[in-house]
Amino acid sequence: MALVVQKYGGTSVGTPERIRAVARRIIARKRAGDDVVAVVSAMGHVTDELVELAHSVSAEPPEREMDMLLATGEQVSIALLAMAIHAEGHDAVSFTGQQVGIVTDPVHGKAKIQKVQADRVREALADGKIVIVAGFQGVTEDGQITTLGRGGSDTTAVAVAAGIGADVCEIYTDVDGVFTADPRIVPEARKIDVISYEEMLELAASGAGVLQLRSVEFARNHGVVIHCRSSFNDEPGTIVKEADETMEQAIISGVAHDTSEAKVTIRDVPDRPGVAATVFTKMAEAHVNVDMIIQNVSEQGLTDISFTVPKTDLVRARRAVGEVVQELGARTWALDESIAKVSLVGAGMKTHPGVAAKMFSVLADAGVNIDMISTSSIRISCVIEADKVEQAVRALHSGFGLDAEMITTEVSPGCGEES
Ligand code: ADP
Ligand code: ASP
Ligand code: MG
Repeated sequence: MALVVQKYGGTSVGTPERIRAVARRIIARKRAGDDVVAVVSAMGHVTDELVELAHSVSAEPPEREMDMLLATGEQVSIALLAMAIHAEGHDAVSFTGQQVGIVTDPVHGKAKIQKVQADRVREALADGKIVIVAGFQGVTEDGQITTLGRGGSDTTAVAVAAGIGADVCEIYTDVDGVFTADPRIVPEARKIDVISYEEMLELAASGAGVLQLRSVEFARNHGVVIHCRSSFNDEPGTIVKEADETMEQAIISGVAHDTSEAKVTIRDVPDRPGVAATVFTKMAEAHVNVDMIIQNVSEQGLTDISFTVPKTDLVRARRAVGEVVQELGARTWALDESIAKVSLVGAGMKTHPGVAAKMFSVLADAGVNIDMISTSSIRISCVIEADKVEQAVRALHSGFGLDAEMITTEVSPGCGEES
């Protein structure tokens, strides 16, 4: 008998029929002898619709109230799923984040889970029940409802799995697993059977939204094995776990892209010690997650600083940048929302020189101009024009030999494999 946490995403519970199908899938697992805790997202596009609704009554909805609103999406789906399971003659109980004791910090809209009490989950399992938990939401020590950032139900699932010591955390979604690129953009993308936390972290941080970044961090920190798979079939998906010698040694594991960031440029900042510290302390205080940073060569004691921030943080970022520009006596600042980031990720980069050079050539051949570059030991990211992002992803995917046909027809070394 295993203790299994299953997470079902928005598309998987998008209609009453799909909720009934998920109910049957959970029941089948329970019948097979396992204990099941299911973490569920809001139905379909409900979260998007709630965000839109909020903005139709307020230009800048208070963050606390936004979380009050968004948390309702998951409360609908957990209750419906529990009802669907009852209708099939099985016992299920649904819990909100608060009822389960998912305690977070107080940062509304992107709260971090601090602990999972889960006593009620354990008690309900001991009573033989199927337990349904609302994804994406938690509660602060002083009782405020919080949400964990878009895609946050993945993190709820991993945190609950860690909290109750589950044998596996299955993340059911609308694709067959983690692919070498978003399969909606690259039809030739290939499913990855096993991937290390390290590589999955870089893919998720680079925009591969199939798993929320925090969920992978949480899984790595607590040793939770994730099985990311389709809710529409029984095929095995992608296992995310600690790296070991049985894993495929590809130089490049995948290409990711991200259109969720905007670029801020502060012009003519005095080039003296402490200026970058002032800018980025201000951003941190405003809870703005800064990603890439570039400081230009200074001329006559003045320089430009550019950095990227999530579009969801723009209201806070605008305010903070406005203040910092005044404080530093910078000339002006500008915002560019039509950027995208395209990234190559692969553990083999550590030992294979020339990947960056090849990436830049592939982008140049595709007529894509590079605006900013950043790297880690296993990732290279370029900021480019948003209009060219799909073209860039496809060019890199085939340029680095990741296309499915190329993999199956060319088994010779050097085609995305260590030689
Ligand atoms: P869910 O609602 O189940 O959480 P998401 O929309 O959050 O689903 O994540 C699944 C989507 O992630 C897929 O439909 C796919 O378009 C997208 N995606 C982006 N990059 C990848 C990738 N590398 N592999 C698989 N899916 C990806
Ligand atoms: N419903 C939330 C969202 O759409 C959380 C999730 O689906 O994981 O972002
Ligand atoms: Mg998701």
